[in-house]
Amino acid sequence: MEQYICNACGRKYEVTRSRWKCECGGMLDLDKAAVTVRPETWTKFPNSMFRYADSMPFECSGIWQQVTMGEGLTPLLPLDGTTPDVYVKVDYMMPTLSFKDRGAAVLIAKAKALGAAKVIADSSGNAGTSIASYSARAGIECDVYLSDTTSQKKMAQVKAHGANVREIPGSREAVAAAAQQAVADEGVFYASHVYNPYFYEGTKTYAYEIFEACGGAPDTLIIPAGNGTLLLGAYYSFKELLDSRLIDRLPRIIAVQAANVAPLALAFEKGDKAATPVEGKGTLAEGIAIAAPARSKQILEAVRETNGEFITIEEHEIHSARTALAAKGYYVEVTSAANYAAHLKYDRAPGETVVIPLCGAGMKSD
Ligand SMILES: [Zn+2]
Repeated sequence: MEQYICNACGRKYEVTRSRWKCECGGMLDLDKAAVTVRPETWTKFPNSMFRYADSMPFECSGIWQQVTMGEGLTPLLPLDGTTPDVYVKVDYMMPTLSFKDRGAAVLIAKAKALGAAKVIADSSGNAGTSIASYSARAGIECDVYLSDTTSQKKMAQVKAHGANVREIPGSREAVAAAAQQAVADEGVFYASHVYNPYFYEGTKTYAYEIFEACGGAPDTLIIPAGNGTLLLGAYYSFKELLDSRLIDRLPRIIAVQAANVAPLALAFEKGDKAATPVEGKGTLAEGIAIAAPARSKQILEAVRETNGEFITIEEHEIHSARTALAAKGYYVEVTSAANYAAHLKYDRAPGETVVIPLCGAGMKSD
């Protein structure tokens, strides 16, 4: 049975409803048996990302089946007819229209397995809508803490699922602090896509799908980096594929930040092991506007270990990228356009295969 293990001090804890960080304040990872990825098992599961369930720490058999809504197995398509080797992964084709459903489906299945009657989450929007949706599916009460500047459409989506919206003024960090205080006061499960490592067990499937569709690893992954929920999941699963000898090298991770809120890019440039919180200037890319990313050490390690780099995007580049992508048929939310803007700035070698995620649907932006 897996345990939590502190990323800072190594202390281990039983997985319970109330534990979400170490006594030392460190982030918790999962301490589990090494995963051996066995593609021959993938055919016995239904057409969703749970075809990779054998690679997830699920001993709660029968639980995810009650929670799943068919998330995952999103299309990997050519960007357009003129750029061979560049692909988009259309991850907005999901039950709540964003890639966060990968993590939320696993996290809420785990909450249900632990017998949680209520969860609390905080989010810049998409994770909140996803947690609200899966909680409704699982019959679990849900409070979602959001900034009072969150897109009205995302807020309406959360409310539609019957979740209680708690609007908090101030920064993304103030929203997280309010949620964490409520978790402590009420003693309930913290369904955090940042702190809870089960979320990454879900986002790992993004990379399994790319591996399966490509028959191997692409050269390069362009991935947004706010709290690193997709980036870390993708990194862990390609590591598992490497450890299972199914690929012979890790794809390079090109991490994308908005120039206005770029603590990770700054730390990378300076050679720092962890990010120093920045005073964000605000960005259109609300989904990656994270001034103090809690897992910065792990994100920086992942980018460095894959020989990757950071690309920062200016505000005007986000809008023009969104328009250019829509002209190719793909209508994404504003934050997701930053990924395509990064591709436009990236110096791609001839024949280099690149995968760009389209993380959220265009209808989500106000
Ligand atoms: Zn610790």
